[in-house]
Amino acid sequence: MSKIAYDLSKMRAVVFDIDGVLSPATVSLGENGIPCRMANLRDGYAMQRAIQTGTLDLCIISSADAPGLRERFRNLGVKDIYLNAGDKFEILKYWMERRGYLPEETAYVGDDIPDLSCMRYVGLPVAPSDAAPECRDAARYITKAAGGYGVARELLEQILKVRRVWNTETNKENA
Ligand SMILES: [Mg+2]
Repeated sequence: MSKIAYDLSKMRAVVFDIDGVLSPATVSLGENGIPCRMANLRDGYAMQRAIQTGTLDLCIISSADAPGLRERFRNLGVKDIYLNAGDKFEILKYWMERRGYLPEETAYVGDDIPDLSCMRYVGLPVAPSDAAPECRDAARYITKAAGGYGVARELLEQILKVRRVWNTETNKENA
């Protein structure tokens, strides 16, 4: 059923990096030098759906910081968004402890060296297909999608299908 060699029925939380995961690793720069990120709308739908079903808790930990980022993910229903993150691992441990999630109940999706300690800590480390080789080595699952092109969709859809809460019918929800 799932392509992921892991018992997805025990997942309770999924943590995402932004750059290289929810947005491509290559971004355009505005004239002010500020990166202009992209968002995948099908990722958005799956994230919204995961939260609405109440079956998965989502968290974002990113060293990036831009006002629009927080707004985008808050609008999808993500409550815990840590931007401008220095030590991602410290934040991850703090968040999991606060929420009571065990490593084996948690997935972390990362694409570069600063994500490695987080990936090694959780039960299900995931990397996009174009992640840094170190992250692909550390990953238990490598998505078919490259960063920014449906990584969250690919992962969440499989978890929600195992839970039988993936809605395959047309509905009015927009991400
Ligand atoms: Mg990244």
